[in-house]
Amino acid sequence: MFKAEKIGGRNVTASASTSDVKLHSKASEASTPSRYPHRLNFYDRPPVLDITLEEFETCAIDRLRVLAHIESLNHRSLPAPQFSAAVATYVKAHLPLNSNSARSANLEEERRRDEIGHWVLRLAFSRSPDLRARFIRSELSLFRERFTSDDLNERNTFLRSMKFNWEEVGPTEKQELREDLMACMPWGKESKKNDAFNAEKWNKVPWYTVPDLIGSRRVFVKGGMAYVPNSSQISLVLQAYSARLETALELTAKNLPRLDEDERLGPVIDHLASSFLSGLAAGDYQPADGTSGAAVTAEMVDDLARKHFSPCMRNLYERLKRDHHMKHFGRLQLGLFLKGIGLPLEEAVIFWRRMYGSSMTDDKFNKEYRYNIRHSYGQEGKRANYPPKSCQQILTTNQPGTQDSHGCPFRHFSPDNLATFLVSSYPTLDRSSAEMRDILDSVKNSHYHVACTRVFEVTHGLKKGDGLGKDGETVSHPNRYTERSREIEADRLGLVKKDEEEEDVVMAE
Ligand code: SF4
Repeated sequence: MFKAEKIGGRNVTASASTSDVKLHSKASEASTPSRYPHRLNFYDRPPVLDITLEEFETCAIDRLRVLAHIESLNHRSLPAPQFSAAVATYVKAHLPLNSNSARSANLEEERRRDEIGHWVLRLAFSRSPDLRARFIRSELSLFRERFTSDDLNERNTFLRSMKFNWEEVGPTEKQELREDLMACMPWGKESKKNDAFNAEKWNKVPWYTVPDLIGSRRVFVKGGMAYVPNSSQISLVLQAYSARLETALELTAKNLPRLDEDERLGPVIDHLASSFLSGLAAGDYQPADGTSGAAVTAEMVDDLARKHFSPCMRNLYERLKRDHHMKHFGRLQLGLFLKGIGLPLEEAVIFWRRMYGSSMTDDKFNKEYRYNIRHSYGQEGKRANYPPKSCQQILTTNQPGTQDSHGCPFRHFSPDNLATFLVSSYPTLDRSSAEMRDILDSVKNSHYHVACTRVFEVTHGLKKGDGLGKDGETVSHPNRYTERSREIEADRLGLVKKDEEEEDVVMAE
């Protein structure tokens, strides 16, 4: 059950039980350091904290960003070590959660934000079985990353505090089952197995609680109990976390209608869920505003489009070049993007005038179009300097009609048209290649940004999983796509130049 009591003032207290969220003006219980004795958290106790509506939203968005990134990594079928490294890097940057031993971190604040984000997202993700499953999957990956990177002593203290219903296998039973337990030991050389066996400890749990270990034959089963070595403890912990989360989300779902009555929280929660459904959380990329950095000229756009534009912008540019005409939302999407890559206002006017060519008189251009271009650069009207559109905005707002050219090709083209467009725009892509199959599969599953990332990898000679070439980053903004593409080219040119210089030195010797 969710209920909001409107009591004026900006500070609110959120007291959320598994099924109950109340907002009131006074804190009924302040958070204390002892609320977070451990870095790891199963989020069993609902928070009773003073929070503002702004915090309610920002904590959730921070976590959503991480979960969306984890989900996109999951869909890119990365090898396990690469996946773990990519999750670890992203989590460290966007949702840090330090161990008790960390000196400079504000542990209380980190853990508080982490907890709020989790509980708000429970509200957003309990709406449908599909959302619940996706939330649990991403949360488990996040927990796994934190569990494996946690300080060993702190982790054991946390596990003891959870009082799991695991039955420790005593020394006598361990020796009796020696042969069977050793047969399931995957570690080390045969000669070292004895030492490993003596050092290892086992717990007994009902076999159905560890289906992954049973499936991979990594545990011995007897009398309905699975014998799980401590080295596979993560499976037990994840299973316990997953079961609790699933039950809690189902309970929350039953009570959601009451939350929908709250006109402040309802829209925030809806927005969070729809962001995740579109495959993306709001990106944190801040594109240039076109007023700084190396300027791009109208002359350079054609070459840049061929080499560096994201598929959506490449499509818009090619359509404009062919038709000498573009409807409003297409002009807006492309115009703001060009501003973001560094095309100054005066060059933008030259660019658009050239592209319209003789299909438009100077008089019409000056009267109807020049104003709009100046407007998008914040020189007319409200003088707002509008930012370039992110993938999330392109994917979810102003859906294109049949005559429009704006939008995202991965989302708005039919599979056949998409394949034709990709093959004609990127000669390295073959229609019947495994890469094209990967791309179309991602599109079929609505993972448009994953498909776009794969296009980037293939067209930039990167291997699967490299993403934008930095920490496995996924495409979340057309300007970021172009920025990374230009950086990669600059790096490669720099290397070639260095090689040539070294060659010159050798020749001169
Ligand atoms: S995923 Fe983003 S960058 Fe790629 S084509 Fe779609 S909107 Fe453009």
